[in-house]
Amino acid sequence: MTSLEIVTGDITKLKVDVIVNAANNTLLGGGGVDGAIHKAAGKELLVECRSLGGCTTGEAKVTKGYNLPANYFIHTVGPIWKGGQNNESEVLVSCYQKSLLLANSLAVSSIAFPCISTGVYHFPKVIAANLAISAVKQFLKEHKHHLKLIFFCCYIDEDYQQYCTLLKGSNKKG
Ligand code: ADP
Repeated sequence: MTSLEIVTGDITKLKVDVIVNAANNTLLGGGGVDGAIHKAAGKELLVECRSLGGCTTGEAKVTKGYNLPANYFIHTVGPIWKGGQNNESEVLVSCYQKSLLLANSLAVSSIAFPCISTGVYHFPKVIAANLAISAVKQFLKEHKHHLKLIFFCCYIDEDYQQYCTLLKGSNKKG
């Protein structure tokens, strides 16, 4: 059984095996959660990221966790919301799927996701939360995996409330 948990606050403070980063195509750092992760992890993260040659939107790449307790970061690039007719939903789901596939290949047991694309990429929060939860549940149903604990880390209260509402009443276990 895998437990799905909703938490608030800074994702860099979580004691998990893998922290997912909502990165940009360069993988060279940015604002929001990406900036917080690079700041907390230290300069060595940027050195490793430089060697990765960027990342396509909807894909994911792994690095070490450096100064954080997390063993790894998985950097995924969410879609920029452009009205909803440009495969934004499919690409966001792909971010969660590819990140979970990578985590699975690392044989880790816990992972934390931020609310990918809902900051400067302007993905509507309710749609994003629904897609995030359903993508994770679908993955758990379809794959043999080692994951015991999956966190949805909500930095702002609106996201936290949204995730709680969506998960409440439904089976929290994957
Ligand atoms: P994107 O470019 O994918 O929209 P952002 O970093 O702008 O990425 O926003 C993604 C989400 O990360 C937003 O919900 C934002 O509130 C949240 N966020 C920002 N800083 C942190 C942090 N330190 N820990 C967790 N979530 C964060």
